[in-house]
Amino acid sequence: MNTSTSSPVLAVNLLDRTPADARQAVADWTRQRGLPAYRVNQIVRRLWRAPVASWSDATELPLALRAELEAAFPIPRLAVEVEQRSADGTRKYLWRLADAEAVESVLIPSGSRRTLCISSQAGCALRCAFCATGRMGFRRNLSAFEIAGQVRELVLRNPDDLPTNIVFMGMGEPLLNWPAVDAALTVLNAEDGFGIGARHITVSTVGILPGLAAFARRPEQFRLAISLHATTPEQRLALMPIEKKYDLEAVLAAAAAFRRRVTFEYVMIAGQNDRDADADRLAKLARRVGALVNILPLHPGGAPDLAPTSGERIRAFAARLRNQGIEATVRRSRGLDIDAACGQLRTRTEKAERAERMERGRRSS
Ligand code: SF4
Repeated sequence: MNTSTSSPVLAVNLLDRTPADARQAVADWTRQRGLPAYRVNQIVRRLWRAPVASWSDATELPLALRAELEAAFPIPRLAVEVEQRSADGTRKYLWRLADAEAVESVLIPSGSRRTLCISSQAGCALRCAFCATGRMGFRRNLSAFEIAGQVRELVLRNPDDLPTNIVFMGMGEPLLNWPAVDAALTVLNAEDGFGIGARHITVSTVGILPGLAAFARRPEQFRLAISLHATTPEQRLALMPIEKKYDLEAVLAAAAAFRRRVTFEYVMIAGQNDRDADADRLAKLARRVGALVNILPLHPGGAPDLAPTSGERIRAFAARLRNQGIEATVRRSRGLDIDAACGQLRTRTEKAERAERMERGRRSS
């Protein structure tokens, strides 16, 4: 019996690793093949710094080496399913993943800044009342490659679109997917990765305490935003069921213990959290934690049963915070002519697909 058949070489997804791990894997691989050491830099550069859609595009490498790389380290992709462009320059992408799940990213240009809002999970288990993703429920965690891949795909389409800022405010709760988010943060920030400054990368969380503790241990200057949205436990519970598990008081204590400045995110919802008394309580909480407040208008269409606070009321609310010495910014609603609130595009695309399937079924019956 012939037992000499060689075992198949397993393909490795380098994009799912941190740049240092990927470099190590490439260095081992090139050494085994007796390739010169400079090939390592050439190969690693093509992962994130000057990404290629496939190794065949890395024309500085010999043809035979490109073919070997294709077999050993195939480059997985996210497929762009929808790209929407708003009149205000905001762009929204729906990415189709290998298992047919879909996630969204939003690119928001503003002067010389290009902020990309990225997703960390397909769907979300937390069911915040004002969020289209929450109503979808949880589908699965994204891998590190699928998170940082949202940046990679953008750069592949146009290198000038490399974001200057990243916010983890797309689909999902990043701190419920910490191992992948941890690795993706390294890819986004590392020199061998996308080289985006840590101060320009913000993780936004409802306050998952174990994840917050892990995030706080990272030595880089990554930013933390807490999705607060309410100033009393009762009010928060009505908007965010996570209050049952990680209550307001515990989240505030964790935010106060964070070594760097924290931002409170506060979505304004008519009649729910936009009164003067809410502003006064919010000012107190922000002072206690030393937090900035970022006020967000509720995106119309994000939650059909809730109404956005009027612009006038938002301005008065922000002024009341500032009069109490709190630094408060009001984020402009962007992409109102596209489905820019997180989860809306995927929901709408799925509805359209369902309608199309039903129509096809009706026609063929
Ligand atoms: S707001 Fe964030 S945490 Fe809440 S349901 Fe939506 S995606 Fe999940």
